Amino acid sequence: MPELPEVEITRRGIEPFILGKTITGVAVRNPNLRRRVQRNIERLIVGRLVERVVRRGKYLLFECEGGSLIVHLGMSGSLRVVEPQAPPRKHDHLDLIFGGTALRLHDPRRFGMVLWNEGDASRHPLLARLGIEPLGEHFSAEFLHRATRGRNVGIKQLLMNANVIVGIGNIYANESLFAAGIHPRTRAGRLSRARCGRLVAAVRDTLVAALAAGGSSLRDFVHSDGASGYFQQHYYVYDRATLPCRVCGAAIRVARLGQRSTFYCATCQK
Ligand SMILES: [Zn+2]
Repeated sequence: MPELPEVEITRRGIEPFILGKTITGVAVRNPNLRRRVQRNIERLIVGRLVERVVRRGKYLLFECEGGSLIVHLGMSGSLRVVEPQAPPRKHDHLDLIFGGTALRLHDPRRFGMVLWNEGDASRHPLLARLGIEPLGEHFSAEFLHRATRGRNVGIKQLLMNANVIVGIGNIYANESLFAAGIHPRTRAGRLSRARCGRLVAAVRDTLVAALAAGGSSLRDFVHSDGASGYFQQHYYVYDRATLPCRVCGAAIRVARLGQRSTFYCATCQK
């Protein structure tokens, strides 16, 4: 599943091809995504110039005069830059055409979304209640300390609550808690101010390292004719159940927490 770093890398990858460009056409091969693509999408967006390409959580917003195209990659989506006449592969459901370049959505599981929204996208119900950005300036020890007071939920579940902090998926929640030395079940409200600070730093470092890893594969990611393009990374705990901890050698444990697989080292994380 594309997580925040993949979405941000996608944003950086496609921006040079669409920023300041006018949408000249849309090719919808299969409108049945998570939300059905609007029947009149062509009339809604053709002729509009993309003024900004921004990310909010895991949503990409192609901001135009009068509104935004809201794009979400869902569980399995990816965007590639292709020539409009390039033959589509299976699951290439939609093209946004910018003259001689097309942005092609590939989405085997069809949980992605392409939606034109008139007006300010930040007020759209999908985006209006999103929490703060983990790479933004407001995500600080003070913020996390305040946001966790009185919360009995485990810190991992709170980290993954998009109404509090947006875009920290299961992989980065697991990895950040390991980096901060915090047990995922720790009740959020019990975290000291100092540990909140360590966790904020760990979340940022983990995401920035993922962006750096993705940056090196950016070319393939956007242009490749190959597979999904999600980048592989070196994880400390995620998906490493029973393997030795890279720091202390103890076996990594796995538990279900809030329906999600939770990986941790019981020695390194207290
Ligand atoms: Zn360990």
